[in-house]
Amino acid sequence: MILILFGPPGAGKGTQAQRLEKSHGLVQLSTGDMLRAAVTAKTENGVRAQEKMASGKLVSDDIVIGIINERIAAEDCKGGFILDGFPRTAAQAEALDEMLNEQGLKLDHVILMRVDDDALVDRVSGRFACGACGAGYHDSFKPTKVEGVCDECGATDFSRRKDDNRETVATRLTAYYADTAPVLPYYSEQGVLTQVDGMAGIDEVAAEIASVLDA
Ligand code: ADP
Ligand code: ADP
Ligand code: ZN
Repeated sequence: MILILFGPPGAGKGTQAQRLEKSHGLVQLSTGDMLRAAVTAKTENGVRAQEKMASGKLVSDDIVIGIINERIAAEDCKGGFILDGFPRTAAQAEALDEMLNEQGLKLDHVILMRVDDDALVDRVSGRFACGACGAGYHDSFKPTKVEGVCDECGATDFSRRKDDNRETVATRLTAYYADTAPVLPYYSEQGVLTQVDGMAGIDEVAAEIASVLDA
């Protein structure tokens, strides 16, 4: 199963991808996570991507396409994967089709998670993640069960993304509407696009996605 979780910043892509890893045995491929790792490691890609990410602009297509091309060929992706945050431009969508073709793979579903802009700002502003295992949380909507302790691994240090502030979210939303949302007709023409109500609670969204995948 190859699946794209599609939606604006804060829509819940990462949250649902983490659940699908467990429920459906798929691997989450988040270009945002990969780019942040590259920035931290100060690789050539990381150095090139850093400023764009900090300001909320898209990183160049050649960098993310290169990262994904390498990643989907890896052994752990053989059982299926979830693209979280890729593709974000028409050029990335076309490159993905070529990569999948070359490897004899086929895209099964593109799931659009629809969320109102106001809710996105609230979601992004309260987002944090476990520093050890990466599990995602929210101050109000998905707190840890025990305050200050990760539900998944018991670690006690957490991180917040520097780009999760009001100004950067506005820039990221502009990029989403200008460059990313226009890719949707490409997938509806291919007959792979399904919309889910991303405004619903995390469990309800998970159930709606599962019903699409298991149909
Ligand atoms: P979000 O929570 O907004 O969906 P991500 O973690 O997916 O954020 O992405 C963080 C940043 O990384 C983006 O604002 C952008 O600068 C960069 N980025 C991630 N994926 C891509 C991509 N496919 N194309 C271009 N830039 C990307
Ligand atoms: P994305 O990967 O699309 O940027 P995330 O999955 O990181 O989004 O979700 C953004 C924030 O909103 C996180 O703090 C997450 O815990 C929270 N969140 C995710 N889904 C929902 C939901 N359905 N309702 C309320 N909050 C949610
Ligand atoms: Zn953890």
